[in-house]
Amino acid sequence: MQQIEIDKKYIEEVYNLNKNCDYLKYTIMTMGCQLNENDSEKISGMLEEMNYKYTDNFEDADLIVFNTCCVRENAEEKLFGKIGEVKNLKENKNVILAIGGCMMQEKNMVEKIKKSYPYVDIVFGTHTIHKLPEDIFRVLSERNKVRDIIDIDGDIYEGMPIKRNSSYKASVTIMYGCNNFCSYCIVPYVRGRERSRDPERILEEIRMLAKEGYKEITLLGQNVNSYKGDDKIKNFAELLDEVCKIDGIEFVNFISPHPKDFTDDVIEVIAKNPKVTRIIHLPLQSGSTKVLKEMNRKYTKEQFIERANKIKKMCPDVVFSTDIIVGYAGETEEDFEDTLDVVRQINFEQIYMFIYSIREGTVGAKREDQVPEDIKHARFDRLKELYESRVDENNEKYIGTCQKILIEGLSKNNPNTYTGRTNTNKVVIFDKDGDYKPGDIINCKITEAHKWYLKGEKVN
Ligand code: SF4
Repeated sequence: MQQIEIDKKYIEEVYNLNKNCDYLKYTIMTMGCQLNENDSEKISGMLEEMNYKYTDNFEDADLIVFNTCCVRENAEEKLFGKIGEVKNLKENKNVILAIGGCMMQEKNMVEKIKKSYPYVDIVFGTHTIHKLPEDIFRVLSERNKVRDIIDIDGDIYEGMPIKRNSSYKASVTIMYGCNNFCSYCIVPYVRGRERSRDPERILEEIRMLAKEGYKEITLLGQNVNSYKGDDKIKNFAELLDEVCKIDGIEFVNFISPHPKDFTDDVIEVIAKNPKVTRIIHLPLQSGSTKVLKEMNRKYTKEQFIERANKIKKMCPDVVFSTDIIVGYAGETEEDFEDTLDVVRQINFEQIYMFIYSIREGTVGAKREDQVPEDIKHARFDRLKELYESRVDENNEKYIGTCQKILIEGLSKNNPNTYTGRTNTNKVVIFDKDGDYKPGDIINCKITEAHKWYLKGEKVN
């Protein structure tokens, strides 16, 4: 029997154990990136097929899942705080507690849970999510604790149930793992080596989503543009092109690309396909060639700028977003100035800024020349100040332009206005002059620019 059939058999087994209980509820706390969000959607899909219904209230839940991330240090504190908080639910109500995700691929974390939080029922890793039904079955029928983690790279499992969080935008994971071993990053150790999904399976999934009314697709991968297909659809550029041909899909994003794999054929596909959103994420990490080499990023400051300029030349309507790590080990004032220089030159519209934190097990953690915390924080503030000083100017450029807007729904703070996003991910607010549902697309003329949103009016 194939693994996916075994998994489905356990879904059925748990359903049979649960079928006479009408009110079984689950909740999921998801940490980290969009890949984890997508994993949580798959976990929800399995749980719903086992007769659990979602609640956002921990107190109401019969089963609580923590889907963890280990990219940043503060995630650990957050997780352990939360597991401590739910101890009383375990004691009073005997909820099932399951912890999975990247952090559970770290041996010391699993040991800590075993020792300090023995009431946790299930610990599962990134490669064994599909076995959660079997783990739950064992807890329900045998009252055993389950530790279900493997170190080897997991296979790709197609056909798992999924319950999506949105009715109009969907993430589709196209590849798993990473081969790059950037020296600050724990991901290759916990997510394994790169494995790409079959292109036809991906396209089939997106065609189904289009039929169900989805308008926006985000292709996901730790290193999305190193995707490898088959003889027919060979690489990321060809896959992106095929996704854009699917009727009904109007916005196509991808995250997170690596600058070294941002080849000319990918840029050509973006240039000819207006469906590809006009905000390109190009993670810089540092502007210093010396630091980039130490980070094992495989491009220089000049090569990064050349790539961004080439994208801008071939697709003049795109803007950029980026990730920057401030205070990596050995970063000098001069190195940091190089980062500010690239920020000035490229004029990123969005910057996700992070203060470097040591991740045990990585090359960066072993370095003795760590930057003192106060210097890291001062540099972070300077970068933030530079970024924010550009926001007004960048937003004002939109005034008078006509933008295609994907509607998200009525504004939370004012039910007389709708909120939507441009294809550069800018929030746009416009007056309610008709009935729209999330996922509808309209054209808006931008009339005002504010710090964190634009105002517009509908045009035909
Ligand atoms: S490309 Fe680098 S930063 Fe991104 S997941 Fe791989 S190792 Fe981590």
